[in-house]
Amino acid sequence: MDEQEFNNLAKESPFRESPVMPNMLEGDTTIQFRCHRNVKCWNACCSNIDIPLTPYDILRLKNRLGLSSAEFLQQYTFPYELDKDGLPGVKFQPVEGGTACQFMVAEGCSVYEDRPAACRYYPVALLSMRRSDEYTDRTGYALVQEKHCLGHQEERKLTIEEYRQEQGVSDYDEKSRGWRQLILKKKSTGSTVGKPPMISNQLFFMASYDMDRFRAFVMSPSFNESYMVPVETMAEIVADDEKLMEFAFNFLKQSLFNEKFLEEQEGAFEKHRARLNARGQAIRAAMEQGRQKMEDDKYDPEPRPGDCGCGGND
Ligand code: SF4
Ligand code: SF4
Repeated sequence: MDEQEFNNLAKESPFRESPVMPNMLEGDTTIQFRCHRNVKCWNACCSNIDIPLTPYDILRLKNRLGLSSAEFLQQYTFPYELDKDGLPGVKFQPVEGGTACQFMVAEGCSVYEDRPAACRYYPVALLSMRRSDEYTDRTGYALVQEKHCLGHQEERKLTIEEYRQEQGVSDYDEKSRGWRQLILKKKSTGSTVGKPPMISNQLFFMASYDMDRFRAFVMSPSFNESYMVPVETMAEIVADDEKLMEFAFNFLKQSLFNEKFLEEQEGAFEKHRARLNARGQAIRAAMEQGRQKMEDDKYDPEPRPGDCGCGGND
């Protein structure tokens, strides 16, 4: 990877406001770092957050908190744009009127076992890239060295790979791989295939973050009129969030990039077009009705209370 490519990746890193070491690091690079309860900067990193979330982060947290995905998104996140086409992402919403994470407590992280991948990686940043002539993504790392973080002054040395193992990020990376590839593909191929971007973005948001709503969507009659979902697959995704998430990534690939995943029901396209036409006609009829009413009101000779400006009854 050349310097320009690295700089582009570093710019897109979740830590872009922070000093990122100007090197692309490999997994076997040794870093000096340790974070523990007795560091003087305890909780400093969680007091001023900028944490982007992956679908798997959201799944873990909403299940831990016993919330629906919609409830979690509303209470703990805000939307931002992942690319220039407005591809939606979500980040942690800090405490009201402040910058601290809502899950920070004096003892540290109150959701430690289910903390997001970005929290696990810190102070390492994961960088993924995909060239237009390559099918798979390539991974590298960068080191974030912020003044307030004193963990870099601790004696301990270990490789990035060892640090990843210690922080349990492999599972998180594995579960989010399909989604990361989608984003890289979207960024490298530009606009989506054959769909208005607004609809694509709404679908992307629901299938990436609002998993409970996506489940209801997959179980709806209109979805099943459009796609043939094998009974075993349907049973799996209804019962298992992670299977549903995998299904969602594949469905997005099909919807956004025409990569075949589900068979379409015969005549589905025609039915879909008929539904859209009917909806369009209904909207046009409602608009025409509104326009007609405004015209009628304009020429309505009948005086009404208030027309004289006094608001009276005479
Ligand atoms: S989830 Fe935990 S580790 Fe991550 S910012 Fe919040 S308190 Fe810190
Ligand atoms: S050492 Fe760094 S990661 Fe650990 S609490 Fe301090 S600021 Fe946070």
